Amino acid sequence: MEYENKTVIVTGSARGIGREIAIKFGGLGANVVVFDIDIEGQAETAQTVCDEIKAAGGGAKYYLGDVSKPDDTDGLIKFAKDEFGSVDVIVNNAGITRDNLIMRMSEADWDAVLTVNLKGAFNVIKSAARTLMKQRAGVIINMASVSGVMGNAGQANYAASKAGLIGLTKSVAKELASRNIRCNAIAPGFIQTPMTDKLPENIQQSYKDAIPLKRFGQVEDIANLAVFLAGDGAKYITGQVINVDGGLVM
Ligand code: NAP
Repeated sequence: MEYENKTVIVTGSARGIGREIAIKFGGLGANVVVFDIDIEGQAETAQTVCDEIKAAGGGAKYYLGDVSKPDDTDGLIKFAKDEFGSVDVIVNNAGITRDNLIMRMSEADWDAVLTVNLKGAFNVIKSAARTLMKQRAGVIINMASVSGVMGNAGQANYAASKAGLIGLTKSVAKELASRNIRCNAIAPGFIQTPMTDKLPENIQQSYKDAIPLKRFGQVEDIANLAVFLAGDGAKYITGQVINVDGGLVM
């Protein structure tokens, strides 16, 4: 139980990749804080994820809020410390898409994606920084995307937010390394989740054709790396961006 008595926060963990990461850490004995946006029905969804984490062997509580609101991320860190006593691992996973060609992209869609995907991670890291520095230990994992590494037509806002996350990751890694805090990014390719289920079938097929392994990844492919990066096996890895994409970017 590598993560016994460790507190792991996963943002955007009511579903998709975040949910899988939360359950995986639970299975390794962690106390997991499931954080997701406060919309109708979300408390029930988050409670279901908590029940799955507990069934896997971990501890779990949920906290609802918006990563783009600093008061909510301050509240999240306080909640984790009050409930479980520390903050050991943070996975900044919450993210949204508002895809469009740049000439049709509204300012509102640009702002929404940058605010949730990039400023959201900044908010969580800033809220946690003092706690992590005092502990002289901690791991931060930011969920980037291959879109942020190679760009993607129709995703100028999303790719910019994910490229920004990569810059944030490297800067935080340099800034906090002296306090034994590591920060890395995972860049998933196409992973089968509600986010990619939204894509039309013909677009999904054209993406699969471009992937050397000829298929979308599964949420567990990302969770496996998150657990590795957070653990002692990765204790000399910081400031890195690791693609999990079936060979799409090489
Ligand atoms: P998803 O299924 O849409 O899950 C994202 C979760 O984040 C949802 O539960 C969502 O809540 C929550 N969320 C959205 N805005 C939030 C906010 N402001 N504050 C707190 N939580 C918020 O997405 P996913 O496919 O699992 O993706 C997870 C991460 O991986 C994202 O950062 C995404 O960009 C990245 N990624 C995914 C893929 C892929 O192929 N799926 C590829 C590359 C990168 P609601 O759904 O209730 O709004």
